[in-house]
Amino acid sequence: MKAGIIGLGAMGAPMARNLARTGYLSGVWNRTYSRAEAAARELSVTCAHDPAELARLVDIMFVCVSADTDVLEVMQAMQPGLNSDHVVIDVSTVSSDTARRAARMLAHSGAAFLDAPVSGGVEGARKGTLAMMVGGDETVLNRVRPLLEAITGRIVHMGEVGAGQGAKAVNQVMAAGINQAVTEALAFGQAQGLDMKKLVDVISGGAAGNWFLEHRGLTMTQGLFAPGFKLALHHKDLKICRQMMIGLGVHAELVDKTLKEYADLMEQGCGDEDISALYRLKKPQ
Ligand code: NAP
Repeated sequence: MKAGIIGLGAMGAPMARNLARTGYLSGVWNRTYSRAEAAARELSVTCAHDPAELARLVDIMFVCVSADTDVLEVMQAMQPGLNSDHVVIDVSTVSSDTARRAARMLAHSGAAFLDAPVSGGVEGARKGTLAMMVGGDETVLNRVRPLLEAITGRIVHMGEVGAGQGAKAVNQVMAAGINQAVTEALAFGQAQGLDMKKLVDVISGGAAGNWFLEHRGLTMTQGLFAPGFKLALHHKDLKICRQMMIGLGVHAELVDKTLKEYADLMEQGCGDEDISALYRLKKPQ
């Protein structure tokens, strides 16, 4: 199996490295072409000029771009290069509806589609330990599993196309709650004048310990918000979550509060910072 990847951002670039390390990666494409050229040089793979050219070179296409319209644009652009031997795996975070739309678009060429969003941050992408939630045909998933194992530590088949994104939406709501809890609690610790390094260390070892606290706890209290996971991307995800929750009659207070606070931060020019920049609104004044 030969793989190609579209989208070499914070998540896509380290995934490309892990696919290259296991010998599966044959080519890359990125909208900002200089990024694709640099990755192709580093990984000794082909730098395609457009998504369709990449599709003609490989049989497995990974897509890791920002938002719903971006995924659909890329699907459209790769169409001329696709046939029924291809599997397209979208690891971006988008809505379940977009996943189903993408699968329908690709059905014309006979290519199979999996929605396979991931969780675990850029650290998980670098280490190849991401948790992946997959929607689509399980037989297809089992065929591409060896490639997925190059970038993940856990793969769970959730159901038909769209179910992977449904699971990721649940993850994103939980991530909002964790961000709210960690930023507010650490602001409380800082206001008391506690040693933040010791505080993060001891809480990480107990029942309130969590990934976000361990990886972003100290940096946020130092005013460092390099992404990571861009706040504007989480805002995009939470808008999708809210729409799904309201449609299902599920309360979305936490999501509403986080959307409002993220919108305030984006207005202040913080959209490209890590989501831990929420600390800006919580820290002791
Ligand atoms: P990022 O660093 O902003 O990179 C986005 C990538 O998408 C770039 O390569 C960008 O190309 C490309 N792109 C955007 N719009 C495009 C379009 N219309 N056509 C073609 N390419 C396009 O974002 P990221 O953090 O890697 O996130 C990528 C996806 O993974 C998002 O859906 C995000 O929600 C999800 N995710 C992120 C994290 C995280 O911790 N960062 C964790 C889990 C999931 P250019 O280089 O030309 O801008």
